[in-house]
Amino acid sequence: MTGGLLGTDDRAVKIHHLVKAPENTPESIRIRESWDASRPATVYTTPERLPDGTPCTAATVILRTRGCEWWWKSGCTFCGYFNDVRDDVTSEDLHAQWEEAKRRTNDFEDCKMVKVYTSGTFFEDRENPADWQEAVLRETYERGLHLIIEAQAHLCKEEKIRWVAEKHPGCTIAIGLEAYDDNVLRFHCNKGFNTKQWHRAVDNLRKYGLRVKTYLLFKPPFMSEGDAIAQTGKWIRSVAPLSDEISINPMNIQKKTIVDRIHRARQYRPPWLWSLIQLIEDVHDDVQPVSAEKAGTGTRVIVHPTAAGMIRGSHNCGSCDKEAAAAIERYSVSADLREFEGIDCECRTHWRTEIKLDQSLPTPMGIGRDRRAPVADILRAP
Ligand code: SF4
Ligand SMILES: [Zn+2]
Repeated sequence: MTGGLLGTDDRAVKIHHLVKAPENTPESIRIRESWDASRPATVYTTPERLPDGTPCTAATVILRTRGCEWWWKSGCTFCGYFNDVRDDVTSEDLHAQWEEAKRRTNDFEDCKMVKVYTSGTFFEDRENPADWQEAVLRETYERGLHLIIEAQAHLCKEEKIRWVAEKHPGCTIAIGLEAYDDNVLRFHCNKGFNTKQWHRAVDNLRKYGLRVKTYLLFKPPFMSEGDAIAQTGKWIRSVAPLSDEISINPMNIQKKTIVDRIHRARQYRPPWLWSLIQLIEDVHDDVQPVSAEKAGTGTRVIVHPTAAGMIRGSHNCGSCDKEAAAAIERYSVSADLREFEGIDCECRTHWRTEIKLDQSLPTPMGIGRDRRAPVADILRAP
């Protein structure tokens, strides 16, 4: 990005063009077109909990789709799903992928839950053909599988939600809200919808008896670590009463995204694991998350640091990462703050200093150790 907040004489570059430019290079297109459209991207099973807390096995099916409409138009600053999509996937291909997923799991043998992820909105007809959506909704319902699908908030229109609820009553719709703040949604995430639209979506989901899962993004780009702790705490408190489950996704850097570029320019560091622990401790008493066992009696708060300990995921100094990440994972199941007792490391002092400086200096993007640009540029928040 050229120019700072204070500006130069250059024309402003639209975030849209920054998102798009490198992803449509011949190389990126070649990679996208090399995928086999008749096979799902990934199929695996994991231990999970049903909405009432009963332990179960869940199958996750990630399909090779045309991808998110919003991405083709503009796209979120952190989303690398486009790396896995093909723009020519047909209804036939999707049916074939679904059959293949069933083959690989032996017809969802021993599974009570299935997560069907389409790198966009499951029930958006321009992304996935309606006949395929219907087949998945019906089949999973007939087999008694609890279904989780994902959607953008503004696409949860009443008519569509009614249709989904008819075909698969009681399923869970996960919405990537990311931030409960319209400015952050617009300028940090380029999300494509606002909080008002999210509220409307939640109203529709509730009206038709569907479960609401809310994803929040911890540390969007162009935000300091200290700010992220303060803001995400507020967002969790605001969305908890309206969500059956909140999943905090600490930023992990996906290839060829805006965040990838600012990370490579050393202008962004993925979150510290200490920040996630701090965040949990800050909100725990207010939100009172329920443990996995007691799911169904309150809101669950799940913090899942993808790629924890890696340079592109949440990390500390390297020597305490495993322990800190494991405690966070345990908390997501037990909702018990005692998971963090006795965990400490020398790097915690560095982290504390960073947060203190973030909160006391006029540096909107933070003063973190990985921001190695010239001090003058940092102060100008380039
Ligand atoms: S709406 Fe979801 S799938 Fe679409 S670009 Fe944003 S994060 Fe990616
Ligand atoms: Zn450490």
